[in-house]
Amino acid sequence: MKNNCIAMLLAGGEGRRLSPLTSKQAKPAVPFGGHYRIIDFPLSNCVNSGINTIGVLTQYEAESLHEHIGEGEAWKLPRTDDNGISMLPSYNVGVDEYLGTADAIFKNIDYVDAHEPENVLILSGDHIYHMDYREMLDFHVNSSTSATISVMPVPWEEAHRFGVMSKDDQSRITEFAEKPAKPASNLASMGIYLFKWSFLKKYLIDDAKNPKSSHDFGKDVIPKMLAGTESLHAFEFKGYWRDVGTIHSLWEAHMDLLSNSPDWQLMNEEWPMYTRDLRAKIGSLKPQAKQGKNCMIHDDCSLEGTAESSVIFNGTEIGRNAKIKDSVIMPNVKIGRNVIIERAIIGEGAIIKDGAVIKGSTSEITVVAPNEIVAAKP
Ligand code: ATP
Repeated sequence: MKNNCIAMLLAGGEGRRLSPLTSKQAKPAVPFGGHYRIIDFPLSNCVNSGINTIGVLTQYEAESLHEHIGEGEAWKLPRTDDNGISMLPSYNVGVDEYLGTADAIFKNIDYVDAHEPENVLILSGDHIYHMDYREMLDFHVNSSTSATISVMPVPWEEAHRFGVMSKDDQSRITEFAEKPAKPASNLASMGIYLFKWSFLKKYLIDDAKNPKSSHDFGKDVIPKMLAGTESLHAFEFKGYWRDVGTIHSLWEAHMDLLSNSPDWQLMNEEWPMYTRDLRAKIGSLKPQAKQGKNCMIHDDCSLEGTAESSVIFNGTEIGRNAKIKDSVIMPNVKIGRNVIIERAIIGEGAIIKDGAVIKGSTSEITVVAPNEIVAAKP
């Protein structure tokens, strides 16, 4: 069956920079925003953009993602022969591992071919944003290009964390460097690529034959395409977008939720968010004025202490006289009495005993690993 555009969602990386939150969980399965998991963002974007065939490439701690996505019902995309969400773990295609992001797509060429798409949208599983991919697809088709990369300017001091590029006044990409030590531009790749399938397939087959390649889009395939004869185009995205691949950026993206910026509303009736637990409805994350100042507190948690400028997820209990500030408390955390938590991320299921003090600094956010038990210092 002919399908104009399908999505391939890369979700198999180790997420080392987000350690210890990723010690037993894939990065895209890490909780975000009071009720969601990071992968809910690209998945909801696909659903809202009318893309109903999605392959999810898993590898590292794949089980955490398979459990979350299940049969795809929460996204109203149960798998059928023609569409829906398909989990594509590396063990399924009979290989030990996906060697890199490009190799993961290469090893699923048969899956893509079976859908006969004109275009393939490649997405990362570690970004927070609402985006209508149809606008990028329109740009791609109107530019008559084979490859479009979604871009946006980032602060100069952060540019070294991204693939950065320069473009001409026709939006053609003229230079590209993956995570350069000294960036020449602050126009960052958002890790969202749209390719004509016939074009991408040719480059993936060539890349697979190259023993020197690390089989990565940013490091290998994009530079090779840029050196070829066809131009690549940059699609400039205007909305809110954050890479949450590091502890600091994950914390900052949570603080952004509290900033009440008109540019970024997690709860947006025009752009519904889907997650496994269908109770995540608009309105269920209302700040509780009584004990929480400038907070996002899930309905389903009990707060006997006080919280300020924090995001507190479902199932969390916060004991009497505990004080939480500038922090992210992930699901099902138990916090005892007289606990002080500041500038920290507390991983899912952690237990913080009575009287414990957990404080980060201006430059470093303290992290408590999922299920860790923290006692008060004697
Ligand atoms: P880190 O660099 O902190 O270890 P990472 O391994 O996830 O993180 P990224 O460069 O952030 O690497 O990966 C970008 C996206 O591609 C993520 O969504 C990640 O899950 C995915 N990804 C990375 N490597 C693979 C792979 N071998 N197979 C499938 N997906 C991958």
